[in-house]
Amino acid sequence: MTATRTVRTVLGDLAPGDLGVTDSHDHLFIRSPLLPGQELDDPVAAEAVLREYAAAGGHSFVQWTPRGMGRGAGDLAALSRATGVHVVAATGAHQAVHYPEDRFPAGTPGTTGGPAASADLAEHFVTELSTGLPGAREGVRAGLIKIADDAGPLTGHTRRTMAAAAEAYHATGAPIAVHLEPEGDPHGVLHRLHGRHGVDPDRIILGHLTRFTDRSLHRSLAAEGAFLALDSPARIGHPADLQAFEVIADLVEAGHAERLLLGADTTTRTAREVGGPTRLLTDLAPRLARTFGPELCELLLVANPAAALATDWRSP
Ligand SMILES: [Zn+2]
Repeated sequence: MTATRTVRTVLGDLAPGDLGVTDSHDHLFIRSPLLPGQELDDPVAAEAVLREYAAAGGHSFVQWTPRGMGRGAGDLAALSRATGVHVVAATGAHQAVHYPEDRFPAGTPGTTGGPAASADLAEHFVTELSTGLPGAREGVRAGLIKIADDAGPLTGHTRRTMAAAAEAYHATGAPIAVHLEPEGDPHGVLHRLHGRHGVDPDRIILGHLTRFTDRSLHRSLAAEGAFLALDSPARIGHPADLQAFEVIADLVEAGHAERLLLGADTTTRTAREVGGPTRLLTDLAPRLARTFGPELCELLLVANPAAALATDWRSP
């Protein structure tokens, strides 16, 4: 790691050592036609979440909300400034089903309908990583690229999105965060991004690992060098999910502690009501510390996020 690696926050680039305790996968703002009535769209509520998180010991918050899903681009910098919490924003795109009326991505300048070409998407991603987010004041930039796997065979939309994410990674160095589906193929995602598109596995963060009950899968993904985000604590109503604690314990035992990140992934109002990101620090982290010692929490909440998010940013 060289001194030039930084984490790109909405208030500017940060030395990885300044990131501190980090919720590596969460949402202050998100909306999807799949979650009617559950929109996170209130800046006042978002500020309360960040203040509570900071009071519990949180320093940094990584929002995985991509383009066109109400990511609060115009509010993130002010919220970070008001609360003192570092915020990393995302570019990228989710599955097509999250965008109303097949408009993809909703709000993309110049696209009013139909599938966006991969090169056009890549250009939008690169602009948001290197110049700024539309709707924000100048220089409020994204610090990672969020994409999603499909449940089953990849759609054309997902293939184009993955190609565009890889192109934006090559242009900027930005890490890529991936939403996984329980019926999807995480190794297929890694092979597509790494084998086909040349993305370094160390720049890939896989999310929703607790959706997969096969422990050997977690281990083999970690062994390939990707970061694994254990992000289920706020995901109530997902009874099939394994508990993050069990998966973490298993991976630590297998020698993969340096690949693990923690996140609360608060995507609904209901999940926010039961604790949101603060629960990571008041519930999961103390349990991990009691079992494995405080060093493990330091690794999962501080050192690993710094390693996963810090990049030698390139100017396209
Ligand atoms: Zn998420």
